[in-house]
Order: sequence, then C-alpha cells, then structure tokens
Amino acid sequence: MNRLSSVLILVLALALSMSFGTALKADTLEDVKSKGVLVAGVKDAVVPFGFVDEKSKELVGFDVDICKEIAKKLGVDIELKPVTSATRIPKLSQGMVDLAACTMTHKLSRDDVIDFSITYFMDGQKLLVKKGSGINSYKDLAGKKVGSAKGSTSEKNIKVVQPDCTVLSFEGYPQAFLALKQGKVSAVTTDSVILIGLKGSDDKPEMWEIVGDFFANEPYGIGVRENDSNFRDFVNRSLIEMWNDGTYKKIYDKWLGPDTKYYMPLTWEMETFPE
Ligand code: GLU
Repeated sequence: MNRLSSVLILVLALALSMSFGTALKADTLEDVKSKGVLVAGVKDAVVPFGFVDEKSKELVGFDVDICKEIAKKLGVDIELKPVTSATRIPKLSQGMVDLAACTMTHKLSRDDVIDFSITYFMDGQKLLVKKGSGINSYKDLAGKKVGSAKGSTSEKNIKVVQPDCTVLSFEGYPQAFLALKQGKVSAVTTDSVILIGLKGSDDKPEMWEIVGDFFANEPYGIGVRENDSNFRDFVNRSLIEMWNDGTYKKIYDKWLGPDTKYYMPLTWEMETFPE
C-alpha cells in the first residue's frame, strides 16, 4: 500500500466514524430541552392547519396548536418555521427543524428518509371545482388540467387514478386555487380538509364545490428524524395524552368543529397505547 492510499483509507475511516457518531448521537429530545426551544416546521398557507392570521400576522392553525402543546409538555418555547410540501422532508433531515407537523401523509416510501409519529389526523383526497362545472369525479378529468402542490402525495395519486389528465404542480395550494379561478386548471386536488380550507376562506365560497369520493387515504403523521426514537416516543406520548385528556378534541373543534367555516366531523379514533 502506498502512502497516498493509506492516507485515503484513514480519511475514509475518519469520515465513516464521524457519520456513525452523529447517527448514534441523534437525540432531539435532549437537544430541544437543552436549547430550550422546539423548532417546528409548519405550513404557512394551508387553512386551517398552518397559515398567517390576518390580524395578528402570526402563524396559527391546527398543526401549530398541536406543536405548541408538545412544546408545553417539553417545558420549552416554540419557534415556528414555514415549510412547503417540497421542502419539509429535506429541512427535517438537515436539522433545520426538530419536527414537521404540516399536513404530511405518512407514506411507507417517506419512511425511507424520515420517521413518523402515530396517525394524528385522518383524511383522503378529493377534487375542488367550480360549481356547475360538470366535473363530478376524477373520471371526468381525462384530457383536462389539474392543479396541485409540488412534493405532495396529491400530485402523484391523481395520475394513478386518471393517467389522462395533466397535473400542474404549484408551490402551494393557494396558487393552485388561483389557477382554478383563472381557468388555467379545471380542478384542484389534494386532501379534502385542505380543499375545505380553500373553499371556506374564499370571498365567495358558494362558487366552489368539493366533489367525488375519496380516491386515496391520507393519514397524517408528525415527521421526526430517522433513528431518533426517544423524541418520537415523546411525540407519540404527547399525542396520546392530548387525545385521552380532551386537549386534542378542543384543538380539533377550534379549527374544524361545527362552529367553524371548515367543519369536518371527527369520524376516526387515534390509536392509543395503554400506560
Ligand atoms: N397530505 C398530502 C401530503 O402529505 C397532501 C398535503 C400536502 O401537500 O401537505 O403530501
């Protein structure tokens, strides 16, 4: 072995041990406690999950309240960082946020990159169209353009059920909705609760309708980093406690209850584990 190759092997061994070192050390629970702040990745343009309140200019919503509750249980402050469907997984993996609570479906394929909490919200995919458009299902979208968001499950699922449509993927759902208003797409597709939020927060909600049956299941999980099980356990425990002590229902009703513009009956139960 010449001198150069032994130096190369040494550098490689050092790099490997450093990366193993970081992988083994990943303990977000301890990190968050010692820095005194939970950095949460949330949406900033998805009503009513994560969006900017017009009056206070603060980020608010269902996901925001869930994160605030977790921070409270940790005894730390919260810092909210906006993420999009496309940036949330890279931002979490790169350590820019401690967790990602952002209308994110737990998919087995996403499990290759990050880990997820237990399911904390249950939904499915539908279509939002202009009232009277004649579109009643994805079957009516052959040869038509459909708007969705980059990095979402929605942009992929629609092509599975309707390969003959063209998907235009935008930065976020408000942009897809704008394209619908401008007649550039015939429908917006994503989780029904996001469509309820778009319709319910529009100036003229009566102009839009959510149509068709669910054509994909969308169970939401809170994203955490791979191999960070102390933290994932803490997040799961927090969700279970919230469900059992009624905090979850309070947050749910605040954003999605019958007195809101985004009413969606709670029809599923969280999978809770006994003590
Ligand atoms: N829940 C779906 C997903 O995780 C669609 C909503 C979103 O883009 O956040 O991709």
